[in-house]
Amino acid sequence: MNFDVVVAGGSVAGLLCAREIASKRFSVLVIEEDYEIGTPEHCGGLVSMAGLEELGVIPFRKTFDHMIESAEITAPNGNSFTINSEKQKVVEISRRELDKQIAFQAQKNGAVIKVRTSFQEITDTGIRTNEEIIDCKIFVDARGVSSLVHKDRTGILLSAQYEIYADWIKKGKVEVMFDQEKYTGFFAWVIPSDEGKGKVGVAGRGINISETLDKILEEKGNYSTIRKIFAPIWVKGPIAKFVEGKTVTVGDAAGQAKPTTAGGIFTSGMGGVYAGQAISKFLKTNNRIDLEQYQKKWTKRFGKEFAKQIFARKILERVDNKTINKLFESITPEIVKEISEKDDFDFHTSSIIKLLGMKGSIKTAQTLIGGELKKLLS
Ligand SMILES: Cc1cc2nc3c(=O)[nH]c(=O)nc-3n(C[C@H](O)[C@H](O)[C@H](O)COP(=O)(O)OP(=O)(O)OC[C@H]3O[C@@H](n4cnc5c(N)ncnc54)[C@H](O)[C@@H]3O)c2cc1C
Repeated sequence: MNFDVVVAGGSVAGLLCAREIASKRFSVLVIEEDYEIGTPEHCGGLVSMAGLEELGVIPFRKTFDHMIESAEITAPNGNSFTINSEKQKVVEISRRELDKQIAFQAQKNGAVIKVRTSFQEITDTGIRTNEEIIDCKIFVDARGVSSLVHKDRTGILLSAQYEIYADWIKKGKVEVMFDQEKYTGFFAWVIPSDEGKGKVGVAGRGINISETLDKILEEKGNYSTIRKIFAPIWVKGPIAKFVEGKTVTVGDAAGQAKPTTAGGIFTSGMGGVYAGQAISKFLKTNNRIDLEQYQKKWTKRFGKEFAKQIFARKILERVDNKTINKLFESITPEIVKEISEKDDFDFHTSSIIKLLGMKGSIKTAQTLIGGELKKLLS
């Protein structure tokens, strides 16, 4: 078998990459090791409408669950504030359906998709799967965080996310809970998919995630668990080289998920889009500069924001509960209003800066964290 490009990983980044390549009439095969595109779903499904539009995906009715109206952020001592997110136009989508929708787009352009086929290794002429050897000019690694496990474990946190039914889940209201003792260096979350239904998850450094999540749920009230998933997330930002030899790495495999939240539908998806465009150009010209454009384009778009997010993450990993409680006390209604009205879900370090009191009258954050904050602002 012979293709111009073989993509390993049939999820958002790999499928978008294949869609772009196929649109330029090059032959492309996507191999997915699972039984079904879109499963096992390991995602909260939060994404901005603007992000989806840029990815070239207008959600089908089946894909689109509902709009998110607010996000309640809670400190370790229980104090909280609520951001009205209506202006940011964030939606909760079904990844099972979204990935299938993108697979359909890729197939319509001419891509071939095979499930239950796993990438094993690179060969001299292409790759070897569990079934056969396939020749190709370019191999795209879109295998998600699993591709990073062997490269660098320090950027990986384990997450647990349960799909549950519970009266206390309110349609349209996301919850984010901080507690450095319980969810060190990360947070716990509730993402509704409807009234009384949703996903509750947690990640953290060196914690027992299933025990922690069970405790969160016990404290919240009655619930029934419909599904449990455990998946690694990557919080260290982009890898050094997206393109090496004939291998092009895209999506979470390239560290393109946000270092603050590990959200990657948009940023990892754009990695797939940019890579697909650069690969198509390279296949036409055979000029490696065209291939290298992929990393340049992604870095130009997201590099600065990701650098700031990495820094915000460093702060989060250093502060204790007392500090977080103090920071929450300094958040004024004006700051919350400003974030609600102006901020961008996909480029959210400006919200973090505001929350840290830099734009408000109280300079708690500077006192607590000192000069380091200047880096976030630069
Ligand atoms: C608990 C959790 C919640 C999340 N919530 C959100 C959210 O609300 N919003 C958001 O934007 N992002 C969220 N994310 C992140 C988001 O899911 C990822 O950023 C996104 O799915 C990355 O897409 P990808 O295509 O790069 O990789 P993945 O979606 O990880 O896909 C990789 C694919 O490669 C396949 N694969 C692996 N190895 C092989 C192999 N050897 N051969 C063939 N196929 C292989 C896998 O089966 C998989 O289908 C969440 C992640 C987790 C874990």
